[in-house]
Parts: sequence; structure tokens; C-alpha cells
Amino acid sequence: MSLLTVGSVAFDAIETPFGKTDKIIGGAATYISLAASFFEKNQRIVAVVGDDFPQAMIDTLSSRGVDLAGLQIKQGEKSFFWSGKYHNDMNTRDTLITELNVLEHFDPIIPAEYQRTEYLMLGNLSPQVQKLVVERLTERPKLIAMDTMNFWMDIALEDLKQTLSMIDLLIINDEEARQLSGESSLVKASKVIRAMGPKYLIIKKGEHGALLFHEEQIFAAPALPLEEVFDPTGAGDTFAGGFMGYIASTNDISFENMKRAIIAGSALASFCVEKFGTEKLTNISQSDMENRIQQFVSLANFEMTYQAD
Ligand code: AMP
Repeated sequence: MSLLTVGSVAFDAIETPFGKTDKIIGGAATYISLAASFFEKNQRIVAVVGDDFPQAMIDTLSSRGVDLAGLQIKQGEKSFFWSGKYHNDMNTRDTLITELNVLEHFDPIIPAEYQRTEYLMLGNLSPQVQKLVVERLTERPKLIAMDTMNFWMDIALEDLKQTLSMIDLLIINDEEARQLSGESSLVKASKVIRAMGPKYLIIKKGEHGALLFHEEQIFAAPALPLEEVFDPTGAGDTFAGGFMGYIASTNDISFENMKRAIIAGSALASFCVEKFGTEKLTNISQSDMENRIQQFVSLANFEMTYQAD
């Protein structure tokens, strides 16, 4: 099958209690495509960078089966730049700098050959741009998934609600789910959010795993207990990429298969946090990934027979 990812391809500068980076490669679509490439070999991307973006990363994406006809390179302009600093708990962070640069006037042009795309992942971007992509696809994909963040809830809530009414699956974290719904209980929040449009909702809870909601069903996946989390940047995007890559490669959108896709996404996210930026994701093998999926299977596996006397 095919997976189209739309999102930022960017530079990041990250500060954690363990260290600090200069400008390194980041961006939601970068993490999503890298993660999805462990499963889906037929990928496309719609994104924009400036002429400062390194060819080496473009080559890496291409060598992993990502078609780059939809990547616009704007001569004389700068790539999106984001900088963040993590608190000691490594779960919360402050955004220090957001320089939109090429993203400010991003027109997501869909190459004609991308029109028949079965799976669409709308990475974190302005909800107007996400909506435009859905409208520009003449044939509706089998599953449209989307990520967003509190930044867009603060400045573009009405646009965000319109986009939400057009998609199937929203993937956000617990803090975002609470802000979007106004509910502190995640179960109540899931009902409010699903009433806005998406039939499926995944709420990521960082080191506490993730929840999948659909109709009356709930699935809870663990996160791998790690001794050290080095840099959580991109873990959410990596999770989404692993999830959608698995769904696209198996071409199965049943609730049962979504459970497996969540484990695939969680396994890749657990690698992402072990090094700064995309470093770990670009250095693990297919069998590293498969072994980690097995670790997840063992982690959550138990038998129980209980009978009251
Ligand atoms: P995550 O840690 O999964 O939330 O994603 C971090 C990535 O999102 C970084 O690599 C940033 O480049 C990118 N990012 C941060 N803010 C934005 C934004 N407002 N729009 C698009 N991408 C962003």
C-alpha cells in the first residue's frame, strides 16, 4: 500500500538535563517517515524546506523508500526551526524558539502521482494546511490520521475543529487531550474529542504508554520501562510513523490490527528517546526493531485464572 506524510521537515536545537545540541535535523514528517520506513516501503512526503537543508538527510529518506517529488526546496529561504528545553522530569518541555520560515506560506502541493494514496498521516502543522491536503486529494484515503499540538489549540481552535471533522484518527498526548476537551478524565475527554469527528483516538501518555479508543472499546499499551531517557523529541511522531507504517503495510484498519500497530509505534518510539534527534532511528536495524517488539509482547503478557470460592 502507500503512505503519504505531510508535516514539518526542520532543524531543531534541543536542551535536556543530559546535554545540548546545536542545530540538528528534526521535524515531524522526518520522524514519521523514518519510523514508517521500518514497515512500509511505498512512502510519499509533502513538505517544504529551505536551501539550507542538508542533501544527506534527503538521500537517507530516499534510500528508505520515501518518494520526494512532494518535497519543495525553496531557494534563498530558511527551513523551519524549533528549539526546546526539557525539564528534569523529561516529560515536560518549554518551546524556546519557533521560526516558521518556509512554513509561513507553505502551500501543500500534491503531485498528481500521489493522488491514489491509501493512507494519509497529517503530521503536526497548521490545521488550515492539514485541511487543504484532505481537500486536495480527489480520492479519500482509507484512513486519515492526524497529530496536532497545544500551539494550534491556542491560536487556531476553529480551524482545528473543522479539520478534526474530516479525519478518522487523532493521535495526541494526554495534556493536549485535556486541553482540547476541557475534561480532566481521559475517558471523558475521549468521548468529547470523538464527538468532534475522529472515530478513533490515541492518547499518548509518555512513559505511561498509550490508550486507543473506538466506540465502546479501549486498548491500553505499555511503554517500555527504560533506564535512561536521553531526548524525547520526536517520540510522538516516531510513534505515529510506526503506527501508520504498520497499518499501511498490513492494509488492515481493524481494531485488533490497530493494537499491533500501537506496539509497533511504541517499540520505535522507545528507540527514538535513547539518543538526540533522529540519530538512533537511523542507526537501528530491522532485527533490532523486531526484538524490541518481542520485548513489548513479553512485558504485557500474563496468564491468570481466578475463581472466587
Ligand atoms: P514531538 O517531540 O513528537 O512533539 O515532535 C517534535 C518535532 O516537532 C520537532 O522535530 C519539531 O521540529 C517539530 N515541531 C515543533 N513545533 C512545531 C510546529 N509548530 N509545527 C510543526 N512542527 C513542529
